[in-house]
Amino acid sequence: MPIETRIERNKPLKNLSTFGIGGNARQFIIIHTTEEMQEIREYISREKIPFWIIGKGSNSLFDDRGFDGLMILNKIDFIEFDKGELHVGAGYSFSLLGVQMARKKWGGLEFASGIPGSVGGAIYMNAGASGVETCDYLSAVGYIDKEGNFIEKKKEELSFSYRTSSFQSMDKIIVSGRFKLEKVDKAREKQLKIIEYRTATQPYGEKSAGCIFRNPESGSAGALIEACGLKGKRKGGAEVSTLHGNFIVNRGNATAKDVLELAAIVREEVRKKRGIELEIEVNPIPYRLEK
Ligand SMILES: Cc1cc2nc3c(=O)[nH]c(=O)nc-3n(C[C@H](O)[C@H](O)[C@H](O)COP(=O)(O)OP(=O)(O)OC[C@H]3O[C@@H](n4cnc5c(N)ncnc54)[C@H](O)[C@@H]3O)c2cc1C
Repeated sequence: MPIETRIERNKPLKNLSTFGIGGNARQFIIIHTTEEMQEIREYISREKIPFWIIGKGSNSLFDDRGFDGLMILNKIDFIEFDKGELHVGAGYSFSLLGVQMARKKWGGLEFASGIPGSVGGAIYMNAGASGVETCDYLSAVGYIDKEGNFIEKKKEELSFSYRTSSFQSMDKIIVSGRFKLEKVDKAREKQLKIIEYRTATQPYGEKSAGCIFRNPESGSAGALIEACGLKGKRKGGAEVSTLHGNFIVNRGNATAKDVLELAAIVREEVRKKRGIELEIEVNPIPYRLEK
């Protein structure tokens, strides 16, 4: 059966993001394999359909009106060791990967434990913590181009910097990643310390999309926001976390508008009081894509 017969209509997006916010997608599909991703990409190009791809939705803020196009949920989640490298599907849980590798004494991805994204989302965002970034142990990325071709590029052919990757300016769908890990006896201890620190310092049980702003060059956005007395500040159902200043949490009924307005207030206060322009890290997903 052609892949498009699996497209659902009017799908609520709210539960597909860790913020728990958003309207419905006009069209929606779950993709499980690289071949299926190639097929849907060809279909999208043929039919000229606006689309967006998400993994775990842990760095995304859906619009209150939803998404006027096809939302693709990436669930390509194979995992294998191939030629001495870890080869993993882009829909695989990044946090689980960090834990599983550490348990097997593979070091490098301990920092991933507790980052509630997918491998694809981590590559796209160059997610990082504890001084380590996704690109540090990455050796290659597999992606699908506009025509539906599968291409694998070495890390050296791509570019990565703080929370940025070349995929942010490319119309490409990441389907897999290869990581070169090293045997480390104490990997599990390190990973457990990381998760302990995270749960003590970040609002884990609450609905958020992680850090709302990128850290400025001068240091920590969270510390700046706290120093400006903004912890606990509210707008509708959105609140600056009382635990970590750089998290905005959904107190139950927040809208995307609440979150963006609160982020704007925080930005303005920090600019006025400290002269620093904070830059948003979370991805607001527009209702309609510009043509
Ligand atoms: C409690 C909490 C803690 C967090 N801690 C951290 C942290 O310590 N460090 C950190 O860096 N981040 C952190 N985050 C943010 C987030 O988990 C990461 O940015 C993660 O990498 C996002 O992955 P995702 O699959 O959820 O991405 P999504 O939210 O699904 O997508 C994010 C962006 O990536 C794009 N994308 C996703 N998958 C693909 C793909 N296969 N191909 C092309 N583009 C794709 C999307 O289109 C979107 O623009 C945290 C979030 C939460 C909620």
